[in-house]
Amino acid sequence: MGAGRLVRIVVSAALLTIIGTRPEAIKMVPVLLALEKHPGFESRLCLTGQHPGLRESVLAPFGIIPDIELACRRTDEALTTLTSVLVQQIGAVIAEHKADRILVQGDTQSAVAGAMAGYLHRIPVAHVEAGLRTGNLSAPWPEEGNRRAIGIFADLHFAPTQVAHDNLLREGIEAERIHVTGNTVIDMVRLAERKLRPAGRGLGLAETAEQFGARRVLVTCHRRENWGPVLEGLCGAVAELAADGAFHFDFVAHPNPDLRARINRLLGGGSGIDIHDPLPYLEFLELADGADLLISDSGGLQEEAAALGKRVLVIRSETERPEGVEAGNSAIVGTDPAAIVAAVRHSAELSPLTRSDETPFGDGRAADRIVACLRGEHFH
Ligand code: UDP
Repeated sequence: MGAGRLVRIVVSAALLTIIGTRPEAIKMVPVLLALEKHPGFESRLCLTGQHPGLRESVLAPFGIIPDIELACRRTDEALTTLTSVLVQQIGAVIAEHKADRILVQGDTQSAVAGAMAGYLHRIPVAHVEAGLRTGNLSAPWPEEGNRRAIGIFADLHFAPTQVAHDNLLREGIEAERIHVTGNTVIDMVRLAERKLRPAGRGLGLAETAEQFGARRVLVTCHRRENWGPVLEGLCGAVAELAADGAFHFDFVAHPNPDLRARINRLLGGGSGIDIHDPLPYLEFLELADGADLLISDSGGLQEEAAALGKRVLVIRSETERPEGVEAGNSAIVGTDPAAIVAAVRHSAELSPLTRSDETPFGDGRAADRIVACLRGEHFH
């Protein structure tokens, strides 16, 4: 960096957005909708295919239709194969479509491949949800490394929070290139609310625990490092708590069929436990909103918990989202089954949190800020 160096940020007109997985789709819907409102942009959406079914489960309810659909589906465990196929295929799309800016979100293989392909084609890259760090390259793996690498390729960094902004600044990125926008997932929760309410559904309308007869707990577990003994321990904790009758569990499985089979084997048929297939976004959010407590290793759910005014027990030993912990929405409980059981029981003694429009992750207006930046308008 160095004082006096001129920072030039190219104002874009033809954008190519790369989306590979569920969280990227969820968090980019508000940005894609905000881009549609501005006729100055030619905006194209490319789905890489890393996660199947995003068109129906996330995009269609918001009227978003992808322009390009690749088939970079992961068929084996080799991330190197997936990543190299992604770079190659996204590179071909960039060459064909003459974008003047690439937009990527988050920390997946599609995001890092999109950023690298953009860089190698000398097309500027903007990174949505930039600057999250645990400081530990092994957790989350490979996401921590992916996110750092994207930080190197990108010339515009949309940091969801001041903490993320400061992380980027510490890594030597020029302040002019970093914009604190809020996290677009908060925008998405608010968009979902506006969709569900007129249909008389969900979000604030769910049965209370008293009506339901037990405290409802929503569980998800999908991180690669948690697939083995951690999942087993978590299922043991869930079975123990469900046996009390005081808690009802909705365990929402991940699209990975091995993981689903393992959850079925460990918990299937247990009373007080429903195992669900992965749910379309709006249904999942309704279920989360109806829950008294969330247990998860997901990143996005920590942010959504803040938007919904819920508590989430994070089954990890660290988080790149410390803002939720500080605000009292997230508690890092680790992966020890006894600690999980104790934390769930303890949660029943706490008074419910209140829901607020302002969250530590944003205020629901991140997408407009991002689009304003892409239009060359500056704000801080
Ligand atoms: N989600 C969903 N359907 C489900 C489970 C989760 O739409 O059945 C959403 C959830 O609301 C959150 C996102 O998927 O926004 C989380 O994705 P995931 O857990 O795959 O990844 P992470 O958040 O850890 O990146």
